This record gives sequence, structure tokens and C-alpha cells, in this order.
Amino acid sequence: MSRRPIVHHYQDPVDLIWLRAAADLGLEVQRSAEAYASYDGKGTLTISDAADFDADDCLAQMIFHEICHWLVAGIRARDQPDWGISNTNKSDLIYEYACHRLQAALSGPFGLRAFMAVTTDWRPYWDALPENPLKDGDDPAIAIAQTAFQLAQAPPFESVLTRSLSATAVIADAVRGVAQPNSLWSVTRSRHRLGSLMSSSEALRCGSCAWAVSGKSGLRCRQHKPPGKIAPSVCSDEQACERWERKLVSEDCADCGACCRQGFDLVAVSARDPFRKLHPELVQLHNGEHIVPRPGGICVALEGDGAAATPYRCRHYATRPKNCEDFEVAGDACLLARRRVGLSR
Ligand code: SF4
Ligand code: SF4
Repeated sequence: MSRRPIVHHYQDPVDLIWLRAAADLGLEVQRSAEAYASYDGKGTLTISDAADFDADDCLAQMIFHEICHWLVAGIRARDQPDWGISNTNKSDLIYEYACHRLQAALSGPFGLRAFMAVTTDWRPYWDALPENPLKDGDDPAIAIAQTAFQLAQAPPFESVLTRSLSATAVIADAVRGVAQPNSLWSVTRSRHRLGSLMSSSEALRCGSCAWAVSGKSGLRCRQHKPPGKIAPSVCSDEQACERWERKLVSEDCADCGACCRQGFDLVAVSARDPFRKLHPELVQLHNGEHIVPRPGGICVALEGDGAAATPYRCRHYATRPKNCEDFEVAGDACLLARRRVGLSR
């Protein structure tokens, strides 16, 4: 052991990031061999010493997991030991599962879902989560996780979590290339400069993506357009992000039909549109406007269900309303409709 005076101590950078996250949320982290992870209901998290960690445990994930438990339990749970749940009460397991879903949903966009994986006995639940852990389904944990996700988008959580996950992702970008295959860092994912995760295919390029559109100012990405701003520029030979989609052509309408069903509420038919005289039985007056209605979200002129044998098809395609005629396959409205029905992200 050196006898020289030591002023500065080495600290793991990801530990620092997450200790700061805890502090900014009013939580003090204590290390102890007495508990794996517990919360006293008074602002102190006790987390096991690193000596008792499994090889894939890290302080960052454990602090993040506790913050997710807090979000799942609701803001007032800060005053309750272990966020008001007991790991010996089977009926509380739903909150553990909701915590998994939230943890995956929050870390995924930063390429950290595998890195931030839960390491407890409930890991099989984590491993079985679908790509979108918040998608509606039968699991009662989903609704709880969806509510917690909303809370995570509000102060003080949103800024703390975004900053901490972003900083962890920056470190992941720096070390992924030198990490051994069995390192947790090797399962982090890189992100495209526009924010989405990088495509797992190195062959895909922005130039072949449905979301890329050419204009006077060059190629721009509609997928990453911030509300009220212009779409960001992309290069055609730039590696694609995971939102890449094949360019759409009119044949794609057969199994899509998004614009004729839940993608939009109705089709307006102008006074001079021949459709009104040709098909008066299909036109209704709605809030002072003539429209083709969509009972149950589906246009009355649409037939088929998108299956290969029964593709979506407009029963009156040749004489369809002008608004439908003007609708452009792969245009902004087409992509919006596909997003609304879940065919695009
Ligand atoms: S959505 Fe398409 S154009 Fe936009 S960054 Fe991703 S691959 Fe490139
Ligand atoms: S949303 Fe686009 S791809 Fe889908 S049916 Fe309408 S035009 Fe075709």
C-alpha cells in the first residue's frame, strides 16, 4: 500500500451519474451488506455492497430500478418503506412487473435496455417482455406501467432520467467497441444522430427509407421532424436508424388501408365533388360538412380486411371523392395514418 498522500479517489463514472440522479430526486444512497436493496420511506436507499453483487449487477441499474419502483407506486410513495410494497406479498408482484415494463420502456430508447436489465429472481418476466413493454394487453401490470411512464415524463423525473440515461449512453458509445463479448457494455446499442436507435442492419441507408423525402433543400427525415419545425436533413448514404421502412408504393395499400380506416376520422366531400351525386347514399351531413362516414372507424366504401385473399379496396375507387384521389401514397398524411393504426412508429 502506498504511503503517499492521496487526495482524489477513483469512482466509477456510471455510479457517479446515478448517485447524482438519486440525489437530485432527494434520495440518499447508503451501501450496506445488510440489505440487497431497500428504501426506508424517509429518503434513504440502502443498496448492497458491490462485493455482494451478481456479476451483472451494477449500482446504476439498482438505483434506476428503485426510481422506477417509486414511479410505479406513485409520487406519494416516497413516504412509505419500500415504496409501499412487500416482496413477500404475492399480490404485490404486479408492481414488480410494472416496474420491469417501465424500466424497459425508459431505457430502451437510449440503447440501454439490455444493460439496465433487472437481475432479481423475476428476471424471466423481464426476458419475456415484448419489444414495446407498454403496449396494451391482458397483463394488469401494463396499465400501471403506462401511468408510471406518464409520471416519468413530468418534473422532477423527466429531466433527471433523461440526463442520466443520456450520460450513460454516451459512456456506452465510448466503451462498446472495446468491451469483451461477455461485458454488459457489449449489449448496449448505438443511436443514430437523430435520436433513434441505429438499425441492426449496416446495409440499410436513409436514402432508401420511406421517411426520407427529397425537396429543394435536399433529403429530409419526416420521422424525426420536431413539432412545428422543419424535418432534419439526412444523407442518402447514411446508415439507417431502426425506424427505417421500405419505400411505400401503391401495392402496399392492399394490406394497409390506414387512410380509409382508423388513420383518419372521416373524408370531407365538397359541394362540387361528383361523388355526392354518384353515391348520395354514402354521404352524410356532419357538423355542417358533407362527409363519407366511418362507423367503427372504417369507411363505408372500404371492403376487405387486408388479408392476401381479401385486400383492402375502395368499392368506388374509380369514382372516389376528390380528397381520396389527391391522397398521396408515401405522402406525409399516408405516413401519419400508418402511424396512427400502428403500422409505423
Ligand atoms: S427514419 Fe429513415 S430517413 Fe429517418 S433517420 Fe431513420 S432511416 Fe434515416
Ligand atoms: S395509408 Fe398510405 S399505404 Fe396505407 S392505404 Fe393509405 S395511401 Fe395506401
